[in-house]
Amino acid sequence: MLYDILIVGGGPAGLTAAIYARRSGKSVLILEKEGFGGQIANAPRVENYPGAPSLSGTELAERMLSQALALDAETDVAEITELKRENGVWLAHSEDGERYEGRSVILAVGAEHRRLGLPGEEELIGSGVSYCAVCDGSFYRGREVCVCGGGDSALQEALMLSELCSHVTLIHRRTAFRGEKTLLERLEGQENVTVLTPYNISALRSADGRLTGLSLTHAESGEEKNVECEALFVCYGQTPATAAFRELVELEGGYASAPENGMTAQPGLFVAGDCRRKSLRQLTTAVSDGANAAMSAVHYLEG
Ligand SMILES: Cc1cc2nc3c(=O)[nH]c(=O)nc-3n(C[C@H](O)[C@H](O)[C@H](O)COP(=O)(O)OP(=O)(O)OC[C@H]3O[C@@H](n4cnc5c(N)ncnc54)[C@H](O)[C@@H]3O)c2cc1C
Repeated sequence: MLYDILIVGGGPAGLTAAIYARRSGKSVLILEKEGFGGQIANAPRVENYPGAPSLSGTELAERMLSQALALDAETDVAEITELKRENGVWLAHSEDGERYEGRSVILAVGAEHRRLGLPGEEELIGSGVSYCAVCDGSFYRGREVCVCGGGDSALQEALMLSELCSHVTLIHRRTAFRGEKTLLERLEGQENVTVLTPYNISALRSADGRLTGLSLTHAESGEEKNVECEALFVCYGQTPATAAFRELVELEGGYASAPENGMTAQPGLFVAGDCRRKSLRQLTTAVSDGANAAMSAVHYLEG
């Protein structure tokens, strides 16, 4: 079947795009490789999505998917590994050999936070381990937290947390930070911030399923140290899932370079959500991108 719009990625951006496209009368197929709902399905609690003061990420993801399905958006589980345009039709090939056809495509493939790679990390997500201070910082108001990383995002998250938390320990495996010098100076001027370098995090310590602290090893001397904390914010950056599409879309640091309307240089190809180059990656910006890309696709289809 030839769909009006193929949506690659069933996270908040892709599901929003499906809702807008269906409400504009376009046929839609959402192709998702893992779980509909995307990253937010891993969030134990979401408290910054307007209109839904507090609910679990899984529930929010289910609500978005149900809304798209109620509008007759179609879905399939498939990892798209190749996309090309032939005779005005976009062809999406999946890893297991399926082929899907669309008059236009919205790439909403998202991004993944880089992990520490330590035992227990996955189990502690939402119980002390976080990758986003904007999302989870306020859950640790008045508590002792740690941040690890050496770039701007680590410095910014540590600064933001220092306004909320009783104490912030910033840990970096090198002595020099890559992030802006002025940010580091502001952090060092905060009374409730300690900067520890060069330290590697060697273990996550926990009790009753919650993070209680970190074991650190000095990168040069090998000296060991323990730090008590209720949360660790891992700021090692994100990996956008755009590698398979790099021939089609201009990438900057792996993120698709496209304006707010999601248009790319390819006719009928649009991008939306966390895979797009932008300054804030959150639910609200992902759903905004999904709406914009869907309306751009609708205008494209209507000439
Ligand atoms: C633990 C956690 C907690 C968070 N908490 C909050 C919060 O409280 N508030 C907030 O605003 N934001 C939060 N975020 C961030 C928010 O989840 C993201 O900004 C949002 O999900 C981005 O939506 P997206 O649709 O652009 O991308 P994603 O959610 O990453 O969805 C992309 C989807 O595309 C799929 N995909 C990727 N490649 C392919 C392919 N080749 N073929 C088919 N499918 C593919 C993926 O499997 C994924 O389901 C959190 C993120 C995490 C990880």
